[in-house]
Amino acid sequence: MASVMSPAKESRVAVSATKLLINNRWVPSESGKTFATVNPSTGEEICQIAEADAADVDKAVNAARRAFEHGAWRKIPASERGRLLHRLADLIEKNADELAALESLDNGKPLSIAKAVDVAATVGCFRYFAGWSDKVHGKTIPVDGDFFCYTRHEPVGVVGQIIPWNFPMLMLAWKLAPALAMGNTVVMKPAEQTPLSALRIGELIVEAGFPEGVVNLLPGFGPTAGAAIARHMDVDKVAFTGSTEVGQLIMEAAAKSNLKRITLELGGKSPNIVFADTDLDEAVEGAHFGLFFNHGQCCCAGSRVFVEEKIYDQFVEKSGARARKRTVGDPFDPKTEQGPQVDQIQFDKVMGYIESGRDQGAKLVCGGDRVGDRGYFIQPTVFADVQDDMKISREEIFGPVMSIIPFKTADEVVTRANRTTYGLAAAVWTRDIKKAHAIANSVRAGTVWVNCYNVLDTRAPFGGFKQSGIGRELGEYGLQQYTEVKTVTVKL
Ligand code: ADP
Repeated sequence: MASVMSPAKESRVAVSATKLLINNRWVPSESGKTFATVNPSTGEEICQIAEADAADVDKAVNAARRAFEHGAWRKIPASERGRLLHRLADLIEKNADELAALESLDNGKPLSIAKAVDVAATVGCFRYFAGWSDKVHGKTIPVDGDFFCYTRHEPVGVVGQIIPWNFPMLMLAWKLAPALAMGNTVVMKPAEQTPLSALRIGELIVEAGFPEGVVNLLPGFGPTAGAAIARHMDVDKVAFTGSTEVGQLIMEAAAKSNLKRITLELGGKSPNIVFADTDLDEAVEGAHFGLFFNHGQCCCAGSRVFVEEKIYDQFVEKSGARARKRTVGDPFDPKTEQGPQVDQIQFDKVMGYIESGRDQGAKLVCGGDRVGDRGYFIQPTVFADVQDDMKISREEIFGPVMSIIPFKTADEVVTRANRTTYGLAAAVWTRDIKKAHAIANSVRAGTVWVNCYNVLDTRAPFGGFKQSGIGRELGEYGLQQYTEVKTVTVKL
């Protein structure tokens, strides 16, 4: 395993935006407070960022409300909203190297991935929803009597968006693009761990020509700025991605304030089911990618790998060998597959789960320790002989820790796969098409992959059954969450 190397020259990227974006102006917070954003490769501060709280949320919501009701945005034709989104996508593409470097620096993900996945998918997401701007419309309805009845799809209004740190730029895109395409205005809080790419995109939003108040960005913490958005009486909807616990707080705040609409994309404990008739090497690589991608920091990570008994020993051996080969190190080194976890809190949490796996008697196949002595690097870790009731099999770890679990029959594995409070994603590996469809139909999850993993596309909806969320993001389904339907009836 590669050791942690000193940062390469690519990591020396300048940070230009560190304040709040309200009404197209960069301003300090009302309190004057700032907080440090930290480089997870070293544990050292990158820079100070203005820290938003309730007073700033008020200011931003007022700006967004003015823009929604009286500003230029209101009068801009739908096609022009699309042009603005395309312009933003072009600017993001033009600044791809810088944005990828900021993402790597702040989040710890490998630079090559930040560019090929995060930036590319962000551009794709803005372009896709740009196209939808003038293609969402109502119907005419043949009601009884002498009336003309039609529906209009109108924007919801001022939308609060609270995003996580695992894909900082991409989560911004998933939320902003459909909201803006449909004509809403936005108050967004990036995660406190990773504000840099969002703020740089804020500069590009202004440069693209979005009118004042349409997009407001408030870096800050969850219980202060985030909670103030969730309970604000003048926010019409909150879209949130993060933990199930915070999702519950958002729902409660929405219920107790103004019944604002909510969409929640929450945690997961996704089953990845491998049958003996599959191509073993492909399944091993697929399961490795399904769990270790983004350092295990994916809500849809395939963290419960169920493997049919007949191939179990071989699968465990090959998965261990693959994980041992995974290169962990400086995100700016082109050879790196896995950088650090995002912060000390996540590092401690993941190490705690590894300890609990050991304590509860799972077999440690490989990993289990930190890498190096600074930053938040963790060895790719594989546990075998994991039992369904162990903590590592029930709770979301959000780190590079795979649990391999043996099973005997298809019926049995479906029951066990569904024995979770989550329902975000699942996968099945088999050459038998009947078996593949049977599993796809019976696993209670928002996304099922057959012979692949982590295939996400802007055009296809993503979201959770059960406690993995409410509503869907992306695709045409994702747009529905950003409009209200109005029925207009005219007497003829
Ligand atoms: P994680 O545990 O993975 O950091 P969280 O759910 O805590 O996930 O965080 C996701 C986002 O939710 C972040 O932007 C965070 O600041 C925000 N957040 C955390 N707590 C709250 C809260 N009480 N109200 C609103 N937003 C919150």
